Amino acid sequence: MKRDYYEILGVSRNATQEEIKKAYRKLAFQYHPDRNPGDKEAEEKFKEAAEAYEVLRDPEKRRIYDLYGHDGLKGSGYQGFRTHHDIFSAFSDIFEEFFGMGFGGRPRQRSASQPGSDLLYTMELTFEEAVLGADKELEIETYVRCESCGGSGASPGSREITCPACHGYGQVFQHQGFFRISTTCSRCGGVGHILESPCRACGGQGRVAGKKRVNVKIPAGVDTGTRLRLRGEGECGVRGGSPGDLYVQIRVRPHDVFERDGTTLFVRVPVHFAEAVLGADIEIPTLEGTETLRIEPGTQPGTTLRIPGRGVRSLKTGLRGDLVVEIDVYIPKKINRRQRELLEEFLKIEKETKEKGSGWGWWKKKKKEKKSGGDDNSGKTAFAF
Ligand SMILES: [Zn+2]
Ligand SMILES: [Zn+2]
Repeated sequence: MKRDYYEILGVSRNATQEEIKKAYRKLAFQYHPDRNPGDKEAEEKFKEAAEAYEVLRDPEKRRIYDLYGHDGLKGSGYQGFRTHHDIFSAFSDIFEEFFGMGFGGRPRQRSASQPGSDLLYTMELTFEEAVLGADKELEIETYVRCESCGGSGASPGSREITCPACHGYGQVFQHQGFFRISTTCSRCGGVGHILESPCRACGGQGRVAGKKRVNVKIPAGVDTGTRLRLRGEGECGVRGGSPGDLYVQIRVRPHDVFERDGTTLFVRVPVHFAEAVLGADIEIPTLEGTETLRIEPGTQPGTTLRIPGRGVRSLKTGLRGDLVVEIDVYIPKKINRRQRELLEEFLKIEKETKEKGSGWGWWKKKKKEKKSGGDDNSGKTAFAF
């Protein structure tokens, strides 16, 4: 069970970025491996705090975490730290940000380009769209490629030059007591090279905040909770970095007539009690329109009939599930004089027939059924009340 990130840092859920930063800084100092050599517990705490901070410092990751918790971040491609190396490099980044120092004294030639973040978008679909598939277009606000520089970040004709401040090393080394400290070059941000002349439209980022339209092909059979991944449709990367992915989380609006469980479709169809008694051809709704279904004489309320292949298409197999029709017997509330006469006569005949034999009360019938082992003729007492 993963601990709550806010709890790890000891801050409230609406803590400001400044508070989060401060809380992490305190923990990082306390549990830093250099101060606690060989202490496994301190290392774990250190790692935990670094992971929590890594998420909460990033507004997008924090938003996802607030909404969906740890699981949400899994879906967004962020898995936490897996290896010692990951922990250390993330830690270094964080520490550099605070103190302008790196650990390990390892000169790092980073690329100036950085991948774009993944995006999560929730899309609401009608029942039909989810079941039959649809082509949708959505507009998202994100970072898009800067058209002025084509994403490179450099103004036209300019090139990259070696950083004059660090001579391409990206870091400057110093000794300060116990630590050997490398300071990230402030001129190039540790990259080792700089743009001779950054693009004015994007400030050298190669991307600008904007809107873009994305076409989403919804496959037939999606359901609430289905998450579609559109590779490369997320945020544009920095200076030619690979774009993030766009995740589309599906939410399906309920239908007036149909219900659904996976690939099985359910519909409740009212039939007149006389049709239930006599048997009939009834019209039922399907996804395609309507269909005629035969019900047998003496059909009971709650009887279910299964029509194979008329359900929802499976995302996995492509095969369609079944349509399950539940018969609901409809009793008219108002009848005219003639109908009343007929029904009264009908009831009279029913009683006469039954009283000769086993009696009228359904409870007597139940007793008899138990003795005889469950002969299902309870339908014949449908007019007992
Ligand atoms: Zn530009
Ligand atoms: Zn530099």
